Amino acid sequence: MSGRQRGHCLCGAVTIEAVLSDEISGCHCDNCTRWSGGIQFGIEATDLTVTGPVKTHRSSRLAERAWCDICGSALWFRYVEGHDAGYHEVMPGLFPNAGGARLTRIVYADRAPDGYALAGDHARITRAEYESENPHLEA
Ligand SMILES: [Zn+2]
Ligand SMILES: [Zn+2]
Repeated sequence: MSGRQRGHCLCGAVTIEAVLSDEISGCHCDNCTRWSGGIQFGIEATDLTVTGPVKTHRSSRLAERAWCDICGSALWFRYVEGHDAGYHEVMPGLFPNAGGARLTRIVYADRAPDGYALAGDHARITRAEYESENPHLEA
């Protein structure tokens, strides 16, 4: 299922309504791994309506990450500068059944920890491949 959906954080103080894509991407880059504690998943989202106590952190020159100031749930990753400015990914787990989306790709796939890797039929994009397509990124 895709289209406009409603989700919330762990404590319920933050609600998000957004139009979600039907594809989930995962990322094993260092920033995502530190932020999420493991692999970070995201769904591209547009037309967001957000209520509640949101905090943001500028995690790189180009992007910010947001969380609920009460319970700490990760909410989104968003480019705030550069040619992808405005691109917004929300965390699938905020929405029932992960918004009905499915995992379609893993980026920085070669940076996964030695101890685990996701099985499944999805694209696996290496750091070198990703950064050659996105030369504006910085680590
Ligand atoms: Zn919360
Ligand atoms: Zn990442």
